Amino acid sequence: MNRKYRKTVIAGNWKMNKTPSETKEFMTQLKAILPKGRWCDVALCVPAVCIPAAVRAMRETRVGIGAENCNANASGAYTGEIATNMLVDAGCKYVIIGHSERRAMGETDADVNAKVLAALNAGLTPIMCCGESLEQRQSGITTEWITMQIKLGLAGVPEDKIRKVIIAYEPIWAIGTGKTATAEQAQEIHAYIRTILREKFGAAADETPILYGGSCKPSNAPELFAKEDVDGGLIGGAALKAADFLAIGKGFPQK
Ligand code: PEP
Repeated sequence: MNRKYRKTVIAGNWKMNKTPSETKEFMTQLKAILPKGRWCDVALCVPAVCIPAAVRAMRETRVGIGAENCNANASGAYTGEIATNMLVDAGCKYVIIGHSERRAMGETDADVNAKVLAALNAGLTPIMCCGESLEQRQSGITTEWITMQIKLGLAGVPEDKIRKVIIAYEPIWAIGTGKTATAEQAQEIHAYIRTILREKFGAAADETPILYGGSCKPSNAPELFAKEDVDGGLIGGAALKAADFLAIGKGFPQK
C-alpha cells in the first residue's frame, strides 16, 4: 500500500533532559513556528514531570504529548512507577515503549508486550521500539532479532488495534552516535517489519506508521523519509531544539 494511506509522524524523545520550566520555554518557541496548514502528526514524549507543562502549552495545537515509559499494571504497590490511566488523565496521547535504553536497564520483550497492551487499553498510542545492536548486525541476525521483538512485543494485540500502534525502528548503533542508517538500510528493515506485520495482522498493518530513529536530523530526514516504508522519525537529540525538530518534519516528500 502506498504511504499516502498512513500517517506520517515526527515524534520527539527528550529522554532525561529539560525541566518543567525549560519545557514551557521550548513549547513557546515551538508554538511560534508550528506550520499552520496540513502537516504530519507531531508527538513529543517528555519526562513525566514535564508532562503537565507540555500538555498545558500545547492544548489546541496539533502537537500530542507523550510519556517515555509506563507501567503495565493498573495501580498498586509499584513505587515510582506511572500507570497508563494516569498518563491519559494527565493529557498524554502517546507513550514510548521498549526504547533500547530501557531494554538495557532490564526491560524484556514480555514487559514491552504488557505495556503495549496496557497502553492500547487505556487509549494511548504506543510507540514500540525495536532495533539491533552493532554486534547483531555484524553477525547477520538483524532480521531474526527484529522478528522476535515485533512478534513478542505485539503478542495479543487485536487486529483492529494495530492501526493505533506506531513502530519505531531504532538500530542501537545509530542512537545518539551521529551514525545514521543509510536510507537503503532503513528501508530494507522497515519493509521487512511491514511484512511481519502483514503476516500477523493482514491489510490493517499497512496503516501502521513505522518510524526511523537514530541520529535523524534535518539534513538526513529528506532522504530517509523519501523511502516508501519510512513513515517518519523518532527523534532524540534533534528534538531538544524546537527549530531542528520541526525542520525534520519538513523532510517529508510533498504529496
Ligand atoms: C532516540 O533516543 O530514540 C533517538 C533516536 O536518539 P537520537 O536521535 O539522539 O539518535
